[in-house]
Amino acid sequence: MEKTRLTGRIVTPDDAEYEQARTNNTLNNPKFPKIIVFCQKKRDVLNALNWAKENNMPFRVRSGRHSFENFSLVNGGLVIDVSEMNTVTVDCKNMTAKIQAGANLGKVYNVLWENGTTIPAGTESSVGVVGLSLGGGIGMLSRLYGLTCDNLLEVELVVSNGKGKAKIIKANKKQNSDLFWACRGGGGGNFGIVTSLKYKVHPISNVSIFSIIWEWNDFEAAFDAWQKFATNTDSRLTSEIELRSKQANQIIAQGEFVGPAAKLRELLRPLTETGTPINVEIKEVPYIEAVHFFDEPIGNIPTYKKRSGSFINEILPKRAILIMKSFLENTPNETTAIWQQSLGGEVKRIKPDETAYYYRDAIIVQEYYSRWKRPEEEENSIRWVEELRSTLSKYTTGDYVNWPDRFIRNWPTAYYGGNLQRLRIVKREYDPYNLFNFPQSIPPLNFWF
Ligand SMILES: Cc1cc2nc3c(=O)[nH]c(=O)nc-3n(C[C@H](O)[C@H](O)[C@H](O)COP(=O)(O)OP(=O)(O)OC[C@H]3O[C@@H](n4cnc5c(N)ncnc54)[C@H](O)[C@@H]3O)c2cc1C
Repeated sequence: MEKTRLTGRIVTPDDAEYEQARTNNTLNNPKFPKIIVFCQKKRDVLNALNWAKENNMPFRVRSGRHSFENFSLVNGGLVIDVSEMNTVTVDCKNMTAKIQAGANLGKVYNVLWENGTTIPAGTESSVGVVGLSLGGGIGMLSRLYGLTCDNLLEVELVVSNGKGKAKIIKANKKQNSDLFWACRGGGGGNFGIVTSLKYKVHPISNVSIFSIIWEWNDFEAAFDAWQKFATNTDSRLTSEIELRSKQANQIIAQGEFVGPAAKLRELLRPLTETGTPINVEIKEVPYIEAVHFFDEPIGNIPTYKKRSGSFINEILPKRAILIMKSFLENTPNETTAIWQQSLGGEVKRIKPDETAYYYRDAIIVQEYYSRWKRPEEEENSIRWVEELRSTLSKYTTGDYVNWPDRFIRNWPTAYYGGNLQRLRIVKREYDPYNLFNFPQSIPPLNFWF
């Protein structure tokens, strides 16, 4: 068989741009790949996979660089980066959009908005739409329009069965439907290299947004009011709450309502009438302004961070709220926090086995996070996250695969619950030799792990 050549923009450790090219959004747990290939077209992706196979070279697939555990990087191997393939094309007649796998959410939202449309997706603009969609995709329109993956119509991937050359296939409800099922919640990097995704889009114009801030004294009352309100209210309203450290002294609830501000104000009464909010803001804005409002300002600047998370199926009792409070009273730094988003609505309408995303019955998804500036702060910061996770586990279930945590011992069940076995069968079908593997990749059914 003829030897394959790597094509595309190739970066190696001798190049000046190597440092930028190898660095992901997380500075801890760094990796040093031998080659990074920035694919420009599908042929480059095919060549990269064939080349890795022929040269027996470990490889990883990358797009938006936001994997919490740097699973899109590998020491001494090849990184197949699709971020320079990022065209977004909207078909307003059929209300669909074809998005190349390298597009980030910022680009996706902007191009869709220019066409009066959107998809429900995440909040931070530099996150890759592909990594987000393959793991589920939660955001400010989840309760109204479901997860990002619920709006997927088709995925195009480069796959390899380990024999012969890699090929491009489509997965949708009719073709490779088992793979399509797995691509909706099974997580990135497991089955093949996605080159483009086709979504159903929704018309959007003005929306209403809110922000309510309380101080530490209102911790228990504000959180309890939010959890009861946010998970039961009108499904046009999705909201989040950030429980910051005692030092930071802020509890911030925010959300987006697809409807008028007057109605939102009325709906929010259970929150605005709780405790003594120090700030209440409710306004109607063009949708794209809401997108910017929820975008986190950290952008592409890498920092040290540790994140983990879990799902909540029932309203937390007082005892659990006091656990969160006591951890937030004793944080390794001021920026450590707990963040939660309400689910239910359209997310819950789909059954847990209808797509690979399992935790359909959860009312809240939550993230525990710590960010720090110097490497020596790492140990304490990680310990805080892991101890909180373990102490709260009595009241929580699983973890969202898009917030992977390398310290979770039973990670396959934590990410996939009752869908694990079927995912392993799909893996055996499309990647029987486990070419696509990383520390928490789905093992094919015949593999021991
Ligand atoms: C600051 C921040 C904000 C976030 N906000 C949200 C949010 O609002 N909602 C939410 O649901 N999640 C959110 N996340 C989590 C995010 O969805 C995941 O980190 C996601 O995996 C990132 O995808 P990526 O393409 O940016 O990252 P990458 O690191 O490039 O990839 C992530 C995973 O996908 C795989 N992958 C990448 N490209 C491809 C491809 N072309 N084909 C197949 N597999 C591929 C990688 O191998 C890796 O396993 C956030 C994360 C961060 C760091």
